[in-house]
Amino acid sequence: MKFGGTSVANFEAITRTIFIVGGKLDQKPVVVVSALSKITDLLYRISDAAASRNETYTRELLDQLRQRHTDLAGELLSQSMMKDEAVAKVNEICDGLDSIVMAVCSLGELSDRNKAIIISKGEYLSSTIIGYAMNAKGIRTRWVDARSMMITNKSYLKAEPDTDAIVAKVPEIVAEAYEGMDAVITQGFVGVTSDGEPTVLGRGGSDYSASLIGLAVDAERIEIWTDVDGVRTADPRRVPNTRNLEKISFEEAAEMAHFGAKVLHPLTIEPAVKKNIPIYVLNSMNPSGKGTAILRNELIEDGVKSVSFKENIKVINIFSTKMINTSGFLRRVFEIFSESKVSVDLISTSEANISVTVDASEKIDSVVNALSEFADVIVDDDKSQVSVIGKNIVRLNGMLKKTFAPLKRCNVYMISQGASFVNISFVVDR
Ligand code: ASP
Ligand code: MG
Repeated sequence: MKFGGTSVANFEAITRTIFIVGGKLDQKPVVVVSALSKITDLLYRISDAAASRNETYTRELLDQLRQRHTDLAGELLSQSMMKDEAVAKVNEICDGLDSIVMAVCSLGELSDRNKAIIISKGEYLSSTIIGYAMNAKGIRTRWVDARSMMITNKSYLKAEPDTDAIVAKVPEIVAEAYEGMDAVITQGFVGVTSDGEPTVLGRGGSDYSASLIGLAVDAERIEIWTDVDGVRTADPRRVPNTRNLEKISFEEAAEMAHFGAKVLHPLTIEPAVKKNIPIYVLNSMNPSGKGTAILRNELIEDGVKSVSFKENIKVINIFSTKMINTSGFLRRVFEIFSESKVSVDLISTSEANISVTVDASEKIDSVVNALSEFADVIVDDDKSQVSVIGKNIVRLNGMLKKTFAPLKRCNVYMISQGASFVNISFVVDR
């Protein structure tokens, strides 16, 4: 059971969350928590302030962070004998944070490794407070350090998990932690290299942590508790009359997460697919709601599930007559993207042209330079990508016509339709 920032934001949210966990103890939950809402952002600001040696501001932010957590611990444990211990523990974590941040501040130098330590403190604080609060409510809960089991590579700030190592470690650690206990709590987002160096999984990574743990313990189900009623047909902030989706396939969910729907971290699906573990997206503010079940493909009907979009993307057009009747050209092109670690979303090719889309935040100068040595490259900024997603949609009668009919008066720069029949995407002006 993973609880995101809004599900652990304050006294009320945590009380609700503990109630939800309390109702599932017979299923032996492993509880994975994010930092309290907005805290990871605050930790990023603290890192930046320290790196730019802005001492007054840094201290102000650190105090703010400590205050929010000590207040919350005090509030949640006000009736408990463990209150002082919990507050002391919170202060201890904050002291550790202060000393590393102030060291950064005095040197004006912030390594990725230290940044990973700093931004992971939010999860350490939330899991500590919630662990105490669960115990205070009579749920015997063991706190487990994710850095004892979530093994990753060395990309400190966007680490890639080593699934085999995680699967080898987690079951034993969880089983041991469960001895004499009703529940186990650990941190999302947080990782560690095989040599014990601290890492994090990248923004929103707690979902991914939860599904990796679910895979490792061979969970019956993976629950992602958030603040919406599940996955919707489109982004309700931008589109009127969206509906909740009762069930979607792993494949549909993966496409949706990659192409704009912000409910799940895009990699969350991957571990679940390996063992066919269903994922439920549930609303901690409406726990009796159905949520969305993400299930294996055979259990899902054909048809459109979602219209997702990425608002700000770039299209890179690569033209070269050298491509005609040769092989290996695409390899050369994509090696360049790979070397510069630029991630490509859509691709469309013809005899002498390749068009690819990338997120507007990608730094593509080195890609463009390298490609320009053997091709003409034009970059179009300020474009948006719209994706229609659903099982077998491309096979449905009239689907293409329906999709493109509203675009009569728009320029369409690129169209991409995967052979998986699950996604039709096109690019228009932003
Ligand atoms: N706390 C981290 C973040 O805000 C991880 C997460 O919440 O999933 O990105
Ligand atoms: Mg999230």
